[in-house]
Amino acid sequence: MMKLTFLGTGTSTGVPSLRCHCSTCLSTDPRDRRMRSSALLETGDENLLIDCGPDFYHQMLAYHRFGKIDAALITHTHYDHLGGVDDLRPYCNDGKFPIYCQPNVAADLRNRVPYCFVENPYPGVPTFDIRYVEPMQRFSIGNVEILPVPIMHGKLLIVGYIFNRRLAYITDAKTIPQETIDALKGIDTLIINALRRNEHHSHMSLDQALGIINLIKPQKAYLIHLAHTMGTHEETSRLLPENVEIAYDGLTIEIPD
Ligand SMILES: [Zn+2]
Ligand SMILES: [Zn+2]
Ligand SMILES: [Zn+2]
Repeated sequence: MMKLTFLGTGTSTGVPSLRCHCSTCLSTDPRDRRMRSSALLETGDENLLIDCGPDFYHQMLAYHRFGKIDAALITHTHYDHLGGVDDLRPYCNDGKFPIYCQPNVAADLRNRVPYCFVENPYPGVPTFDIRYVEPMQRFSIGNVEILPVPIMHGKLLIVGYIFNRRLAYITDAKTIPQETIDALKGIDTLIINALRRNEHHSHMSLDQALGIINLIKPQKAYLIHLAHTMGTHEETSRLLPENVEIAYDGLTIEIPD
């Protein structure tokens, strides 16, 4: 049994968006408060963090305060998916913390937090064991089999992850290459981004995400990385087919073996 907790389900600005008075930003429904997108996958042995955005500290405080994390898997280099790595300090007590990412993400990480990569780092700074992933190169962490799959985020090639051939986590997709579509066929649970109702140059709209879900036909799909312009959780939920739900911060789902 794998368990996934949505730590954040919002786009890069978060929801509410600062300075905005729209009905979604002013909603009192807790499901309309979305931190930056991230998730925690618990497999029984391993606890894997997917992305580590600027809300990481608050996400751990809310949903995983005392738990361990064994490694982080990064989807791409943007700040909303990577900006929280300095807060990985408490997870580095046993040595360097493993971060799985594409080589270009690792290069950007060295620029963002150079003090973590110097020969004799200041005592207490986090240190990382960077492990490269490449699209379609399968690897394992403990008993979890992971397939990074290529995703196009506008013109940027990023990765999504498929866990144990059952659960897929895809964020910041605009288009999905055919080899990824093929790899997704037969999975049970698809987590996928849907930014808003109108089109966007580097993220899928609601209709585009629903089109991909219809192509893959998972048993269940969850939408993430929402902007405030999507509308409220409640009103947008009414537009969805039966096997699709909007994820919200703190939602936990179980994926049977
Ligand atoms: Zn993003
Ligand atoms: Zn708003
Ligand atoms: Zn992005």
